[in-house]
Amino acid sequence: MELTLWTYEGPPHIGAMRIASSMKGVHYVLHAPQGDTYADLLFTMIERRGKRPPVTYTTFQARDLGGDTAELVKGHIREAVERFQPDALLVGESCTAELIQDQPGSLAKGMGYEIPIVNLELPAYSKKENWGGAETFYQLVRGLLKNHSQNQPDHKPTAWKSEGRRPRVNLLGPSLLGFRCRDDILEIQKILSQHGIDINVIAPLEASPADLIRLTKADANVCLYPEIAESTCIWLERTFGHPYTKTIPIGVGATQDFIEEVHKILELDFPTAKEEIDQSRLTWYSNSVDSNYLTGKRVFIFGDGTHAISAARIADKELGFKVVGIGTYSREMARQVRSVAKELELEALITNDYLEVEEAIKECAPELVLGTQMERHSAKRLGIPCAVISTPMHVQDVPARYSPQMGWEGANVIFDDWVHPLMMGLEEHLIGMFRHDFEFTDGHQSHLGHVGGSTKETEAAQSQTIQDSIDSNRADHLPCWTSEGEIELSKIPFFVRGKVRKNTEKYARQIGCQEIDGEILLDAKAHFKA
Ligand code: SF4
Repeated sequence: MELTLWTYEGPPHIGAMRIASSMKGVHYVLHAPQGDTYADLLFTMIERRGKRPPVTYTTFQARDLGGDTAELVKGHIREAVERFQPDALLVGESCTAELIQDQPGSLAKGMGYEIPIVNLELPAYSKKENWGGAETFYQLVRGLLKNHSQNQPDHKPTAWKSEGRRPRVNLLGPSLLGFRCRDDILEIQKILSQHGIDINVIAPLEASPADLIRLTKADANVCLYPEIAESTCIWLERTFGHPYTKTIPIGVGATQDFIEEVHKILELDFPTAKEEIDQSRLTWYSNSVDSNYLTGKRVFIFGDGTHAISAARIADKELGFKVVGIGTYSREMARQVRSVAKELELEALITNDYLEVEEAIKECAPELVLGTQMERHSAKRLGIPCAVISTPMHVQDVPARYSPQMGWEGANVIFDDWVHPLMMGLEEHLIGMFRHDFEFTDGHQSHLGHVGGSTKETEAAQSQTIQDSIDSNRADHLPCWTSEGEIELSKIPFFVRGKVRKNTEKYARQIGCQEIDGEILLDAKAHFKA
């Protein structure tokens, strides 16, 4: 048993729903209790789709448990196939149905339908949404290709040369409820076509079962979202000899590496690096003098594995931030995130407990949080600027405008989105110099439309600061602050004040001092070079 208030991922059948809803011609019969239809809202409200997901729920109730629930499942399968006439059928269970073990997949297979039927076995008590999505996609691809293609591990990714055509690749992984997938695929498609590379199939988003059968016609696979597509890419490589890309093109450097990797796989001539860099404005914007004040800003990163790793590279190498914390809730990608953390001399936080993440944020007192919708809430409570870089997300992260994260335009979007929550350079200096302005008060960010004085958020942040100060002055919490020390502390710009408070207390403890005045604070600053 685990006490849970917020979860980063839903149960695995939500992952299966994401695959079914992303595709065309696929229907999903889900054995689930009454009430599980809540999941429809993820697609109709967050993704703002104009149609219901292609899911038939058995919606059994307590009184059905006394009867024949297996017959109930068969009835719903019959109804779904007759009404929707899908090209392929997924059959699976939700968490509650898993307990009654009706085995709906086997029941469906015994009903004599001609269409491919995929029996999903998703262990709801040990796996989560992304795993469920990956497993569903893999089982569907495997189920469809097994009967249609001969194994051909002698596949050559350079066959396009002898066949006198342009090379073509599959884009694998984009799905509904993924982070900005809709625009990422447009951006990657554009970049690849500029390099003379065609797209064979994009899947699962907008693909049909017939498209999946064509997957083997590509020269190589581009794995855009490993959380969803890596297991399928590995299987395609093992079974048909199709190589796949390992670089995720988020950020300028990663996009360059990605293009280079695709060229190497397909044995295409690689274009000059200079032309490539100029395609995104991020490099010039972050080199321009206005971005000087961004250098060394302390940033905390949390999200799914793919986006956390990409964000760390951009923050560290392309924006000059200092990454002070990194973590992921994707246990499947824990190893990769740990190795990135190691390069940054950090210890990765691998958890799906948002309170643990909030504690870690408090501990390293960053000036910017790059996280999920959960971290947006935590950062708001702590009064720290935040940008969302990964799912879980809310409706505002499925915007109407073009907003990729991948490729050159994705880097432009990232630059704007990450810098926007920070106080602008001039305002930062002025507030540091003149602390008694009636409008541009401590913590005020006029570019975010704050109307002078305090807002709800700054009030919350201030009450947190007051609470911190009360906590640190408790008798059992030595050293304590003198009023002179507090006044000195209040002169520190608000966004680094938490860090300075912590460092000073640490320093005072180290030297055995029980009271912190202005002098100790200055000594601590010198000690930590802060
Ligand atoms: S079956 Fe699972 S998803 Fe559905 S209500 Fe129960 S716990 Fe939630």
